[in-house]
This record gives sequence, structure tokens and C-alpha cells, in this order.
Amino acid sequence: MPLMKAIQVSAPGADFELVEKEIPEPNEHEVLIKVEACGICHGDAIVKQGYYPGLQYPRTPGHEVVGVIERLGDESHHWQVGQRVGVGWRGGYCGACRSCGKGEYWACENPLATGISTDGGYAEYMIARMDVLAAIPDDLSSVEAAPLLCAGSTTLGALKNCTAKPGDLVAIHGMGGLGHLALQFAVKMGFNTAVLSRGTDKEELARSLGAQHYIDTDAGDAAEQLMRLGGAKVILCTAPNSEAIASLVNGLSRYGQMIIITFVNEPMQISPGVLMRGVRSIGGWIGGNMNDTLKFSLLTKVVPMVEVFPLEQAAEAFDKMMSGTVHFRAVLKMGGENDG
Ligand SMILES: [Zn+2]
Ligand SMILES: [Zn+2]
Repeated sequence: MPLMKAIQVSAPGADFELVEKEIPEPNEHEVLIKVEACGICHGDAIVKQGYYPGLQYPRTPGHEVVGVIERLGDESHHWQVGQRVGVGWRGGYCGACRSCGKGEYWACENPLATGISTDGGYAEYMIARMDVLAAIPDDLSSVEAAPLLCAGSTTLGALKNCTAKPGDLVAIHGMGGLGHLALQFAVKMGFNTAVLSRGTDKEELARSLGAQHYIDTDAGDAAEQLMRLGGAKVILCTAPNSEAIASLVNGLSRYGQMIIITFVNEPMQISPGVLMRGVRSIGGWIGGNMNDTLKFSLLTKVVPMVEVFPLEQAAEAFDKMMSGTVHFRAVLKMGGENDG
């Protein structure tokens, strides 16, 4: 049997291990993908730490995957061997639950999550269901396209569905993998965009990407500074820090909306009165449409800024992502440096 290299986690809290294992066979309605690139997302910590109920080990993480179809499990009118495709967080839906019955597949009550319920893209090959694939446009390299599939589609989805209109003040909290894409999308959508980040290191870059305002959250009360600008219609929270998120609610304008798109395990403390004053609200957002994101990214020329690592350095890349020192999305690239 032919073998492949893959990274796996054997138990909650265990280190990444580089292993050799058999290349899997696609079943009906599945494809085998030869992986070219896989982004490293904060959501991968779910596998590393065992935060997901019923997660089975060993597991290979990775849900920002771009690769080429190597084999089809059965005939398809839509997908062909050799085609470049992407796989995101959503690995499949049951088709039978209440949400699926309403056509709301994204809210499936028994979902498959790529790299969590099934093995993901920290590997040379992976299996994916045909009905969750996105075709990757020729004008995007695999390394550029990968982060658009989770970080990109989540941030764009949240912004497209928020209550702000062009010209409104939208604050992006955090300037990492999610934040640097959210900033660029918000600018292209015509929002008056503020970046909130610790220190001043990222100010120049934020402004060069179109931010009208930059607020150093280490230098005074960031919510107060937002109120001086009139209050944010939307604060998009991408930095995984419950305390910092809670402290920003006071920076929302009347009817302002806080949208959390970062996975945090710590509870948040908010005084209810803060929400009543100004009729503010706090909500979350997950996922987004990969095809829309790839299209919007090409249209507006928004591409992720990435640091590329070989598969063998997945642990180092993951640690850099977790410590917030990666600029700005870590991407694993398989098979050397000769392709995009
Ligand atoms: Zn993700
Ligand atoms: Zn379902």
C-alpha cells in the first residue's frame, strides 16, 4: 500500500507527531485530495486540546485545505481528477435533521467538521466529501487560497451579515490571521474602519491596508476612544481574549452590535445594564460561503499575508499562531517550494 506523511495528535494535549500511514481510499461521494497547502487556524486547538465532545484520536487537524483531486470515489458530473479544490471547516451535513430539512445545512445538528470529525489537511493526502468542495480560481495560488476558506469566509460572512452600512464605523479587534483579512474586507466594503490591537507595531501596516483609525488597546480605554469617534456600529472580535472583548462593549454606538468570531473557552463578564443603555447586542458568527469569499477576494484583490512552513514544521507553525507572532496566517505547504 502506498504511504503518505501526516501530522497527528494521539490524545488531548499531546504533541503533534509526524507519522507515515496508508493513503486513504475515497468511498462513494468522496474524493481523495493531494494536498498542496493547509492553513493553520486557531480552531485547530480544538483537536490539540480535546475541546470537542466525542472527538476520536488519533486525529489529523486542518480545515483550510487546497489540493488537487487525485481520485474520485464514484462518478461525478461536477468534479474531475486533476481539478484544484478547497475544503473548509464544514466537512458534511446529515441531510436529515431539522436544520437540513429547512435547507440550512450550515446549522446541521449532526455536522461533520473537517480535521475534527474526520482527518484534515495537515497531511499529503486527505479524503473529503464532494458536496462540500469549492473550486479554486486559477488566479489564486494554493497558499493564498487556503486561508480564505476559514479565516476569509468567516470574516467576510460576518461583515456581509452585520448591521453596519457603508460609511459606518466598524472596529476590528485583533490583527492576526482573521483580523488582517477582516480589515481588508471591511475597507473594500466601504466601512469607516478602525483597528484595535495591542501596542503600535501593527499601526503602519493597518493604515497601509486602509484602516482610517488605529487604537492601541494598551494605551488607555479603547472603548472610550471608540466613543470619541462616535461609537462603533459593529465591533468584530477576532482576538481570543474574553476580558478584552467584554471591555469593548462600552465602545458600541446606539444599536451597536458586537460579533464574536474567535474561539474562547473563558467566560465573559458583562453588566447587563451596559447592553440596555444604547440597545446594544452581542452575538457570534461561524463559517461563511467559500465560493463567495474566493470571488470577492479576486474582485477586490484581497489576499492573505502568509508565513509558509513545510509539513514537518507544523508544531512550530502552530505555536507561532497560538502565541500571535505569525504574520499573519501560517500555511503548511506540501511537496517543496516549486509550486504556488
Ligand atoms: Zn478555522
Ligand atoms: Zn443535518
